Amino acid sequence: MSIQPARTRFAPSPTGHLHLGGARTALYAYLLAKKTGGQFILRIEDTDLKRTVPGAEQEIMDGLRWLGLNYDEGPDIGGPYGPYRQTERREIYQAHAKTLVDNGRAYPCFCTTERLDKVRKEQMDRKENPRYDGTCRSLAPDEAAKRIANGEAYTIRFKMPHDGVTVAHDHLRGDITIENKQLNDQVILKTDGLPTYHLAAMVDDHEMKITHVMRGSEWLGTFPLHVNIVRAFGWDEPTWIHLSVFLKPSGKGKMSKREAADAMKDGYSIFVKDMQDLGFTPEGVLNWCGLMGWGVAEDDVMTTAQMVERFTIDSLTPSPAAINFQRLDHFNATHIRLLTTEDLAARLKPYFAREGLAVKDDVLLKMIPIIRERLTTLDDCISFGAFFFKDEVTPNPEELIAKGLDAKQSAEIARKAYELLSAQPDISHERSEPPFRYYVEASGFNAGQVFGVLRVAVTGQKVSPPLFESMEIIGRDVCLKRVQNAISILEKM
Ligand code: GLU
Repeated sequence: MSIQPARTRFAPSPTGHLHLGGARTALYAYLLAKKTGGQFILRIEDTDLKRTVPGAEQEIMDGLRWLGLNYDEGPDIGGPYGPYRQTERREIYQAHAKTLVDNGRAYPCFCTTERLDKVRKEQMDRKENPRYDGTCRSLAPDEAAKRIANGEAYTIRFKMPHDGVTVAHDHLRGDITIENKQLNDQVILKTDGLPTYHLAAMVDDHEMKITHVMRGSEWLGTFPLHVNIVRAFGWDEPTWIHLSVFLKPSGKGKMSKREAADAMKDGYSIFVKDMQDLGFTPEGVLNWCGLMGWGVAEDDVMTTAQMVERFTIDSLTPSPAAINFQRLDHFNATHIRLLTTEDLAARLKPYFAREGLAVKDDVLLKMIPIIRERLTTLDDCISFGAFFFKDEVTPNPEELIAKGLDAKQSAEIARKAYELLSAQPDISHERSEPPFRYYVEASGFNAGQVFGVLRVAVTGQKVSPPLFESMEIIGRDVCLKRVQNAISILEKM
């Protein structure tokens, strides 16, 4: 059986930051398109002018590119079905709204906001669900035309059937059946001539030849309206896939603004723009959020290319997934281990630069194999490896004193270390370690004490990558200088 190339789209509104839920929707749409040899499209749904946030569109595009979810058509790169920004397509929607009015499937509505508010209030007082009361639904077309000609402001509402039921089919959830009398006549074109989502998205999905609509489950409520609009035009329906929602880590409800800010304090974020700063890799982020809502083994480590290979829409699950940041750490660390040394080097550089450290490429390539296993996030390279690039380290004097010893004894160890290191023509770790082992045996100090003094002296910190390998990379002269410095600190104590 040949697979039809899918055309999928990610259709965010530029009303805020690109968040994990959006990134995952984009990922699934991307995976399906790539898996089937189709196209992945970015469409900006910016018809709600009041909610548009300057810069949000750019952030979406930057975020998708950072994640590697490169779209084949979009507002900044164009494509055969553009424009891809809805505010640039208003005539298209107006023409379609007119078609529906001409066919008796929609009607102009002249009700003012004041009147609608009053009706809503009365309905709520009567404990009824607020809905449009249908005042303009039965206006004679001539009468409506006259009022439009007189310059009266109007919206266009979709005329929902009153009888029977609507059956809408979601690929993950099956048939959703609703009695039409429960449906409301929604506005599809606003007084400013711009469409609402209901019309714009249906028109665009059709005009852009979208085969699979993947969107958040918050659209399930208006799903019956949407299928009615598509059917009113006589169009084929796309395959509808309403994705699960993300819940906060406790699994109770969605993440609030405050909880999102709290996550930031712990070094996590639900916004894609923060992920790079926090040291996450696009591979780790995608693998992590890709598995939330996709029925493969929880621990499946996959690159994006491997996800493309394994992706099927049948394996998506509709149940909500709780965000688990520890799993993000796990996937991030795992993907860091999978990168080539050269690739990882290029990714670490900006973090060293951010700390004002001048990175030497040869040193970077040598130190990566000994720090890689210790990195959960990319910025961990600072705590494990900044000492490789510092001119000098400033050890905390207290930390130079080995456990169970005093400053004098620690200074003795440091002086011996200086002697042992200077006796070596080179300090490859194979050569430099054995003399220290003999010293441990002969001196009566234990290994922890000897290596502890040396470690703090050379790296400036108590925890470091393997000591002798580190010293080899730093080089004999610098190590001697640092040990000398430690001796003077200890002798002054
Ligand atoms: N603009 C809608 C949103 O951001 C898109 C929903 C859809 O993908 O159709 O929620």
